Formats: sequence, structure tokens, C-alpha cells
Amino acid sequence: MASEESWKQQYLQELESAKAREESWKAERHTLERLLVRTSFASEGQDRALDELLSRLRDQLRTGTAGAGQIKSLQDALDRRIAELDGLKGQADQQLKTSLDRLISVVLQHSLFVPQKSALRALAKSLASPDTRREGLPSWLDQLAELEALALSQNPAQQKPQGAFGRLFGRDKTPDAQTLQESGLSPEYVLSPEAPDDSGVVDHRANLARKVSELLEQMLTQVTLDSAARARAEGIRTLLEQRTDWDGLRDALNEVSELVVSAVSREQREFEAFLKRLDERLLALQSHLHEQAEVSASRQSASESLELDLNRDLQALSQNLDQAQDVTELKHSVNAHLESIGRTLKQFRESESQREQSAHQQMEVMREKLAAMEAQSEHTHEQLKRERARALTDVLTQLPNREAWQERLRFEHVRWQRYGHPVVLCVLDIDLFKRVNDSFGHKAGDRVIQLIAKALRDRLRTTDFVARYGGEEFVALLPETEVTAAGHVMDALRAHVSSLPFHFQGQPVAITFSAGLAPFREGLDMDAVFDQADRALYRAKEAGRNRIEVAG
Ligand code: GH3
Ligand code: MG
Ligand code: MG
Repeated sequence: MASEESWKQQYLQELESAKAREESWKAERHTLERLLVRTSFASEGQDRALDELLSRLRDQLRTGTAGAGQIKSLQDALDRRIAELDGLKGQADQQLKTSLDRLISVVLQHSLFVPQKSALRALAKSLASPDTRREGLPSWLDQLAELEALALSQNPAQQKPQGAFGRLFGRDKTPDAQTLQESGLSPEYVLSPEAPDDSGVVDHRANLARKVSELLEQMLTQVTLDSAARARAEGIRTLLEQRTDWDGLRDALNEVSELVVSAVSREQREFEAFLKRLDERLLALQSHLHEQAEVSASRQSASESLELDLNRDLQALSQNLDQAQDVTELKHSVNAHLESIGRTLKQFRESESQREQSAHQQMEVMREKLAAMEAQSEHTHEQLKRERARALTDVLTQLPNREAWQERLRFEHVRWQRYGHPVVLCVLDIDLFKRVNDSFGHKAGDRVIQLIAKALRDRLRTTDFVARYGGEEFVALLPETEVTAAGHVMDALRAHVSSLPFHFQGQPVAITFSAGLAPFREGLDMDAVFDQADRALYRAKEAGRNRIEVAG
């Protein structure tokens, strides 16, 4: 009896724990199903067929009608579609590579890029690497843009339209009006929001499209555009803004290469035409000098023949005087000879004045031609000057660019070697700038770069030199400045920038920079000085940012 009781007890306990286990399984299954539903939402938006499968999966999970068999067959269908999508992505990568190959081979064939040929070849080669084609593409395009800008800046034939690209691709400087009203802030420092990207893939493509747009802008500031080409460039830009798929990107790249090559060829033709005109004018000048030489030769022969004629008349006269029998005969003879001499002189004077007149006319024509030639060459000189200034200016900030920096650094270093007056080199880098881009968008990031550039330009002495080195990095040279004084100047600048009233959607945003300083020193070439400043900058970052460090 007692044993029957304990058996019963045991049975009931087992029943109880089996029930509890089942409850916990149910709860787990429910959690897993919800997790699956959420994951399926996260995968949406890449492909319509995939979306339909995911939606069916969710319906079955939600209604709880899914049997193991149904879920299994849905899973198989999903696996198949994902494998197909992988294949399509490979194809898209291949298409992009073909377009970029085409872009670089068009550039390579152009005579303009001969000095950059080996660098371009290396770039074309690196395109074959799978790393380049994925994460490395933006920097690949950067390098291409740099090489093309270099080639174009070395070509004397180009001339640039005044502000044509500023108008076409001008950065949007209008701040968000609402934010502005709410904050009552200086509109300059209000950063406008940008639509966030919704997936890594789209982000990567948008990033590429932006790089291509920048490449386009940079290349096209170097060339003149007629109105048809300008309209085409605008079309490409719209294409880049609206289409973030690989096909759109590929089409845009093809268009960019064609546009640039055609613009550059046209400019080359124009320059050749100018040279031809100049050549023609020089030829005209030469033939004028030749004519002048002939004129003076014929003048000489005219006076010689006048002398001969006069001599002949005078000889005849003296002969007649010797032979004359009476006064009347003598009178006649003298009269006849005097008349002949008079005629000869008149003829000579007439032909002489004719010669003078035509020489004068010729001189006048030549004077006009020379004046036109001078005006033309002055115009070309001005164009070259403007073009050079543009090639040395950064498009975003209007500060001198890296090219200009290298030139100035070389110059200041040579001067320092000769006179030995103190010079300090500074390298500046905006702190945590990636965060600015990530939180407020790339456009707002650009605006920050512009405003910091403005602060640097406004607050440094006019004899100081400041340039955009690249990205969010700036460099400066402070001549006639000891390193301690330079440290104070840069620290005051740092404090000023950190107190600028940047705002985003009504919230204040602190923007700071760090900098490294190094003085020119005996035994250090300019690259070594730069390295020292760069290392000091690194220490400033290590030590917590928003600070200045001095080398040594
Ligand atoms: P650190 O304080 O260490 O310098 O951090 P950081 O985030 O500034 O440094 P990092 O070099 O990792 O990031 C620099 C970022 O600057 C990455 C890049 O996207 C951004 N950037 C570079 N050039 C531009 C530009 O022209 N415009 C914008 N908006 N962003 C840029
Ligand atoms: Mg940096
Ligand atoms: Mg930085």
C-alpha cells in the first residue's frame, strides 16, 4: 500500500515536470519565431523575389500554421534565391570593373596623359585586385582623379570657364531654415541634416557615386565646357544622385570619360589654332621686313639712276656750250637741258612720294597686326595665370591645395637655408571627424571643413601660409616665428575653433582639432620636419585630442 502511494506520487511529479518542459519549449519556439520574423525584415529590400519569400515565411510564422515540411520547402526556396543573388552580384562587380577598365584605357590613350602613363598603368593593374574592387574603390578613384588633375594642370592649352563649375556643382550653402529659426543662431554654423543610408550596400554605392561626382567636379574644373557639354555634365550629376545601382554608376563613369576626353581635345584644338594664327602673323612680319629691304634697295637704285640722268644732261649741256656758235642757239640748248633736268627731278620726286606712301601704308598694316598679336598673347598669358591659380586651389575650401603646399614648402625651406630666420611647420587634423560624417551626413561634414578652413585663413597672419593637405587635414607654415610663439598662436586658434557655435537640429555640436608643430632645424630636410610635426600630431591625438604638441 505504502509502495503504491509513492509510485503514484512519483508519476504525478513526472507529469508535472513534463508539462513545465513543454511550456518552456513553447516559449522558446515563440521567441525563435519572433526572432526569425525580425531577421526577415532586416534582409528585405534587396530583391523582389526574396522579399516575397520572406513575406510568406512571416505569414506562416505569424498565423502559426506552418508545419515542419512547409518551412523546410520555404527554406529551400530561400537558399536557391540567395545563391542566384550572389551570382548577380558577381556579375555587377564584373560590369563595374569593365567600365573602370574602359575609363582608364580611354585616359591612357590620350596624349595629354603621357607623363602619368606609368602611374596610370599601375592603377589599371591594381584594379584587378579584389580588394580594390570592394572597399578600395573610393581611394582608387581618388588616385585617378589626382593623376588626371596633375595631367590637366600641366597642359598649357586649357582655359577654364569662370565659375562654370561653381554654378554647376556649387555646394549647397543654405542651412536648414527651420533649425535656423528655432535656434536663432548664426546661420553659418547650423549643419543641415541629410537622409540616412539604409544599408551597407547602398552606403558603399552612394559613397562610390559621391567619389565619382567629386572626380567629375575636379576634372571638369580643369577644362572649358560648351553649353552642350555642360548640360551633359549636369545630366551625369543627376544620374549619380538618383541612381545608386551598379548600372547607373557604370553609365555615369562611361559618360565622365567621354566628356573629359572630348573637352580636353577641343581645348587642345583651340590652342593649336592659336599657335597657327601666331605663326601666320610671324610669317607676315617676315615678308614685310623682306619688302622693306627691297624698297630700300630700289630707292638706292632710283637715286643712282637720277644721278646718271643728271650727269648725262649736264655732260650734254657742257658739250653744247663748247660747240655753240651763237647765243640764240646756246639759249635754246640750255633751256632744253634745263627742262629735261626739271622733268627728271619731277619724276624722281613723284615716284619717291609714291614709294613713301606705300611704305607708310605697309607700316600701318604691320603696326595693327603687331598690336593684335600683343593683345592675343596677353590674353593667353592671363588665361595661363588664371588656370595656374585654379590648379593650385582646393575646390571645397578655396585654400591652396597640396600641390601649392609642396611648392611653398620648398620655397620657404630654401629661404630658411639662406637666411636662417625661424620657420615653424604645423600639421592640423580635425578630431573624430568620421563621427561628424556618420552622425550628420557628408554634406554637413563638408560644411565643417569649409568653416574651419575659413577660421584658419582669417586668424593666421597674411605672411603665414595655410593649405588643405587632404580630407580633414590642414598644414601651415609660420615664417619669422619661434616655436614657442607658434605654439601660442596655434593654441589660441584651437581654443577659437573649439568655441565655434556649431549646431545640428537645434543641438550644439563641439568641433575641435589637434595639431603637431615642428621648427625647421639644421640637419633636417623638409620631409623630416614634416614627419616630426606629424608625429607630434599623433601624440596630441594619443593624449586625448583638442590639443597642440610640439616636436622634440
Ligand atoms: P581622429 O581624431 O583620430 O583624427 O579621428 P577621425 O575620425 O578624424 O580620423 P579618420 O582619419 O579615421 O577619419 C577621417 C574622416 O574624414 C574619414 C573620412 O570619411 C572623412 N573625410 C575625409 N575627407 C572628407 C571630405 O572632404 N568631406 C567629408 N565630409 N569628410 C571627409
Ligand atoms: Mg585624418
Ligand atoms: Mg581626424
